[in-house]
Amino acid sequence: MLYFTNQQLKSIRPDLIRNFSILTPNMMHTKDSSQLKRIAILGATGSIGTQALEIISDNPESYEVLGLTAHSNWKKLATQANEFRPKRLILSDKSNSQSFEDALLYKPEQIDYGPESLRQMAADPNADLILNALVGFAGFSSTYDALKAGNSVALANKESLVVGGEILTAIPGFHDRLIPVDSEHSAMWQCLVGEDMNTVEKIIITASGGPFRQYSREKMKSITVKDALNHPNWEMGNKITIDSSTMMNKGLEIIEAHWLFGINIELIEPVIHPQSIIHSIVEFKDGSSKAQLGPPDMKVPILYSLSYPDRLPLNVPRLDYKKRMSLTFEPVDFIKFPCVEIAIEAVKEGGIKPAVMNAANEVAVERFLNEEIRYIDIPVLIEKALSKFNQRTITSPQTLFEVDAETRKFANTLFK
Ligand code: NAD
Ligand code: MG
Repeated sequence: MLYFTNQQLKSIRPDLIRNFSILTPNMMHTKDSSQLKRIAILGATGSIGTQALEIISDNPESYEVLGLTAHSNWKKLATQANEFRPKRLILSDKSNSQSFEDALLYKPEQIDYGPESLRQMAADPNADLILNALVGFAGFSSTYDALKAGNSVALANKESLVVGGEILTAIPGFHDRLIPVDSEHSAMWQCLVGEDMNTVEKIIITASGGPFRQYSREKMKSITVKDALNHPNWEMGNKITIDSSTMMNKGLEIIEAHWLFGINIELIEPVIHPQSIIHSIVEFKDGSSKAQLGPPDMKVPILYSLSYPDRLPLNVPRLDYKKRMSLTFEPVDFIKFPCVEIAIEAVKEGGIKPAVMNAANEVAVERFLNEEIRYIDIPVLIEKALSKFNQRTITSPQTLFEVDAETRKFANTLFK
């Protein structure tokens, strides 16, 4: 790994700085000389947010919590706030504001309510890193505002890149200031450190296959909410758990990888790897491949996104290679899991299609969880939304908000 001072950097060709082998002093480092990285966690009460706080609690000499946000779980946010004492707090749903403030055992400098305040925290000039652990399209604006304000972002909210990849990658510094949290993309990132993207032949993105990998197409018709919320390898929020079961999650992740690494969508190959030990593979033009392995524990990629370009110790169970262990691979059944190809087609068509697809998926997942539609209706609902809306170009975040709202409205009228 090479480090350069600002003086040395002036003599380096700018195109090389985008090569993963060179780290600039600005990349993911604190803004001042203090050792503590000041982190704002958007979506602190969720699965990713909670695990990030556990990591921070284990590394008080490395991190300081600057701000925390939650949507409606004010009790959990108050408990977290009382432990980490951040200066700023946001509850985006303000209905329990009084109970929330009564539960605080200290006086934060600032408490805000409502979705707009999230955008201010994302753009906070005092933050060294914004961890965007929000779920769904609700996370897009924060990624946008953080990058626009010059902040670095650890991105768990894959939907940001799915809907707004074109807009976000056009922000100067995107490739230097955005690091993925998603385990597959963290794996790709780690395999690409020290490599030139021009030497990459393809990326193999692994997928566990979810709970229905071995279901017959007939059995898929009677899947219940309880069946779908029971993921074999990962404990996650409800939305991503359902996305994993339909494999829409892999579709979203293929789009995420496409924007993150600027790689042609055709060169990203999904493969089922039920053990979730190899988190992804990068294959190079010389026939060599690099894979990143690790226990199926999100703390590993979360910590890497917080500590990058360094590594910190983490107390998670290690893989024991002396034990008999199989790593197996199988092709994706695109007929049983149509969402993968729906996502790939949407990003190939570009324009508003990925945003329509994402909004329709969010509505479909929510309506399935509310038992308003059947499991097998999810891809059908998304396809219907995709064929309803004519193509348009995305000119600004405003277009995305309009498309998202229109799609949600339409998707809520289906199957009634
Ligand atoms: P979660 O549902 O557990 O948590 C979501 C967080 O966002 C909560 O703090 C919630 O209060 C907040 N939130 C929800 N809706 C909101 C809204 N409308 N406005 C403001 N805040 C809102 O979700 P999660 O599983 O932690 O996933 C977060 C993101 O990370 C998702 O994009 C997911 O795809 C991605 N991700 C998660 C995992 C995982 O293991 N959980 C792995 C990889 C990627
Ligand atoms: Mg993932």
